[in-house]
Amino acid sequence: MRSVHMMLSARLGAAVALLAVVAFTIAPAPTMSKGETVDLNVHPAPEAVKARIQKYAPIDITYDQSVLSQAEKDALVSLVRAGEVMDQIFLRQVWAGNVDLRDQLEKAARAGGAETSPENAALMQDLLHFYRINFGPWDRLAEDAPFIGNMKKPAGAGYYPEGMSAEEFNAFLTTHSDQAEAFKGYFTVIRRDRDGGFVAIPYSEAYKDLLDKAAVFLNEAATALTATKAAKDTTNGTDYTTLAAYLRSRAAAFASNDYFQSDMDWMDVKDNIVDITIGPYEVYEDALFGYKAAFEAFIAIRHPADSRRLADLKDFLPGMERNLPIPDEHKNLSRGSDSPISVVDLVFGAGDTKAGVQTVAFNLPNDERVQQAKGSKKVMLKNISRAKFDKILVPIADMVLDPAQRGMVEFEVYYTNTLMHELSHGLGPGSITLSDGTQTTVNRALQTLYPPLEEAKADIMGLYNTAYLVEQGYLSRDDEAKAYVSFLPGFFRAIRFGATSAHGKANMMEFNYMKEKGAITLDPDSKRYHVNLEKMPAAVREMTRDILMIQALGDHAAAEKFIATYGETPLEVEQLLKQLESIPTDIEPVYTAERFLR
Ligand code: ZN
Repeated sequence: MRSVHMMLSARLGAAVALLAVVAFTIAPAPTMSKGETVDLNVHPAPEAVKARIQKYAPIDITYDQSVLSQAEKDALVSLVRAGEVMDQIFLRQVWAGNVDLRDQLEKAARAGGAETSPENAALMQDLLHFYRINFGPWDRLAEDAPFIGNMKKPAGAGYYPEGMSAEEFNAFLTTHSDQAEAFKGYFTVIRRDRDGGFVAIPYSEAYKDLLDKAAVFLNEAATALTATKAAKDTTNGTDYTTLAAYLRSRAAAFASNDYFQSDMDWMDVKDNIVDITIGPYEVYEDALFGYKAAFEAFIAIRHPADSRRLADLKDFLPGMERNLPIPDEHKNLSRGSDSPISVVDLVFGAGDTKAGVQTVAFNLPNDERVQQAKGSKKVMLKNISRAKFDKILVPIADMVLDPAQRGMVEFEVYYTNTLMHELSHGLGPGSITLSDGTQTTVNRALQTLYPPLEEAKADIMGLYNTAYLVEQGYLSRDDEAKAYVSFLPGFFRAIRFGATSAHGKANMMEFNYMKEKGAITLDPDSKRYHVNLEKMPAAVREMTRDILMIQALGDHAAAEKFIATYGETPLEVEQLLKQLESIPTDIEPVYTAERFLR
């Protein structure tokens, strides 16, 4: 973890002095630092700024408006506005100085005027563009290296006072243990108070103006969806009572700072066309402690055709479990449907989720009490996957795949692979008995080896289950062949993110395993990969069996051996990854909703 000892700014000192003078009017007088200033003239060379922007391929994020009624469109306008407020809050959560810096950048990016040349204004526009992608002056694809100024990103983001160390925080709590709950809570920011101590301020106060605004938009949307006339106008005869209940209780949570009931209500929302997830959720931005939740929003629509397809696939789950290539005693025939999955198209993403690399799925809520009571939901963002497919997977396929097989790479097939991956997480051993009789879970038995192995399981078992769907007559032989070929570019996309991530490691293992079995071959002249469709089914079956047996037995030593055997990056792949450097790393979503809905 980075040190933040040296960052206490002169400005903060000035703010403290000022507050001391006027303190009697604003007790208890926490000091709301606006953050250090950064020097706009410290930045990479103009071409280097452009190169960083180009790692994100811009793409319009669209959705099918024809499935929407007028009431649903009206609701979406309000919801997108609520989402825009989440952008504003998250900007402040990343760093206290962000609003000032944005204003400075916007000013400098306006061409003309005596003080700035056109070249400089163009450069400032690029810096502003990259700043917007990252929600701050730190490059999220370069371990948060600063690209404006040279200030290190505060580990505690905007949640804690700049310059506060973890030791300082903990020392304060040893003498104020009654405040530990508020200080470590998900929904408070920490500020210095006048006498050198700290105070915890609820989000409902710290971001009050913005949260009040967002609440108005949520209530507006609830009204649009349930007003008598509007409800009748909905094309799909949908009952929006549960969604409206969530919108209203979420709006109330923004003011009360108690998110429990609205998280419960979110779990009860029916699969309507309009779908929204909004509020403070993930804690990754708090790199100091991982306590504080970042605001974000996923405003989406559910396509009826995708819902039907997903329901079809779910019906096959019991048959898939019975069909696994392991002895019956290890099958998990009594496992219920763990976590519901839904597929949506994102209309507008905001806040935490919009910064840096785009998510293609999320699993919420994080509140354990809600998970105990109601489980959790997985929501998959199909049009975001489509955007990444078009901008990243297709160019990778163009470079790595045997041209004779290139035509077999199709988005719908690729997306079915993704769905099969998610469904396969729910199949196979979960609770297990070790050879010494200990009752445990696969996760606990395999510990840190679990994530890469479980991801590889989901990928490969997904293909195995695709073959099962062919046997069942749901998919064709042609679909199966396309599924194998469409899988290949995904290896390289995942490995590019680093073989140290669970997904990267999993894909490396899959690639090496398939290569060993002759299911993937490299043409030494063209340096292109060919998928051997004859050998693929057996290789998929064997790898599925190998991983499932390690999991069923909770065999830590075997897991270690498997990962050591198949997890290394071979030289040919390293060389290939260099060739792929010109292909964007991720996308920059341009939400057309902001145009359509106004
Ligand atoms: Zn997974």
